[in-house]
Amino acid sequence: MREKTIKEEVQFSGISLHKGKISNLKLKPLPENSGIVFQYRNHKIPLSPNVVVNTNMATSIGNGEVEIFTIEHLMSAVWSLGISNLLVEMDSVEPPILDGSSIQFLEKIEDVGVVEQESRRPIFIIEKEITIREGDRYVSISPNREGKFSIYSKIDFANRAIGVQEFSIDIDLDSYRKEIAPARTFGFLQDFERLKSQGLALGANLDNVIAVGESEIVNPEGLRFQNEFVRHKILDTIGDLSIIGVDFVANYRAFASSHKLNHKLIQKLLSDKSNYRVEYS
Ligand SMILES: [Zn+2]
Repeated sequence: MREKTIKEEVQFSGISLHKGKISNLKLKPLPENSGIVFQYRNHKIPLSPNVVVNTNMATSIGNGEVEIFTIEHLMSAVWSLGISNLLVEMDSVEPPILDGSSIQFLEKIEDVGVVEQESRRPIFIIEKEITIREGDRYVSISPNREGKFSIYSKIDFANRAIGVQEFSIDIDLDSYRKEIAPARTFGFLQDFERLKSQGLALGANLDNVIAVGESEIVNPEGLRFQNEFVRHKILDTIGDLSIIGVDFVANYRAFASSHKLNHKLIQKLLSDKSNYRVEYS
């Protein structure tokens, strides 16, 4: 696969999830070998695992002076399109949450179009199993002999509106668009006041979050998938892994994954070059 960028500029506007501010974000094409670059005012932050500064509730990046929050839904869509080079210009420190999923990012970028560039995009062929554990939670990545990027994710919430959910998928653009991109983020009504007091979820509403009550879904329209929650976990995971800027041939498996565990996984993966080999198809 060759590196890609977008054909022309595309803009997204709307409220941000945690800061609760109106956010205008412009995506602009970049030349090959530029990578993904976030720009806020005069701060330019090239995306890499080294700039991840916070993984509590969302994945945030920073340069010591500014922090940009909740990049994972945008990045998940950008990765699924195979985009390597992109300027993300923002007038606020968090992208708009839109409908809480990545489908609007994906569709609007597809509408303006994606173009191939000269350089080849690296593929990480995972050669060893790596697992990160925290209590009964884990995330792991291991070799896939069929040349696929297969994801299995499981969650188990005491809340009966969610319960146990699991989902397996071989990721490509079509399967991502259909099965993963529409899955929305979610939150519990009982956590809402506490999060707000911490300056989080200030922009959350029923148009951008699945709100879960004691045992019911609050949103009048209900769910997009019966197991929308675990599918959103996969959406987030793809956003988190995309920070390396490569494609994967791997099996990813998780129980109760989190941004924090995914970040530790990519750090451990990158810490030893014998964990993977790099190919250019
Ligand atoms: Zn999410």
